[in-house]
Amino acid sequence: MNEEFLEKLNEIAFQKSEPFCYGCYVICPSGRCSKCGSDDLMRHLDGVGVEWGTDWIIKELLLDIDEVDQEESFDEYLESAYEQECSVAWLKVETLRILKELCECDYRIALNDWISSEEEDGEIVSFNNGVTYYKVSAVKEYIKENS
Ligand SMILES: [Zn+2]
Repeated sequence: MNEEFLEKLNEIAFQKSEPFCYGCYVICPSGRCSKCGSDDLMRHLDGVGVEWGTDWIIKELLLDIDEVDQEESFDEYLESAYEQECSVAWLKVETLRILKELCECDYRIALNDWISSEEEDGEIVSFNNGVTYYKVSAVKEYIKENS
């Protein structure tokens, strides 16, 4: 799925950028430099810059898609899956608060496990080995709107 998205994002990156001859410092809409004839061209993205390849353009595109706030999403899941309050002796305490303050280590492990399972289930996707995640639905929508 990841590869499939990257292919589509790469197409969008090509559409949104233009070939650029660094030697002559000109944009070459035809794909060949009109000054020196080179077809070994960088990509130019308006307002951002000039660089080889499209990876950097894909990074720019991804800025337009909301990142998943991993902790917030996990907390929402926990609130839906467990009682919001639990009893400690005669006290009622927020379950989330207990988890996050007293069992932080377990909370972190569970958070990472949950993120992995969300990824396996195709709910979220990462393009940088799990540093940041996007909702699959948001990526699909972005691709649809920009293709
Ligand atoms: Zn040139």
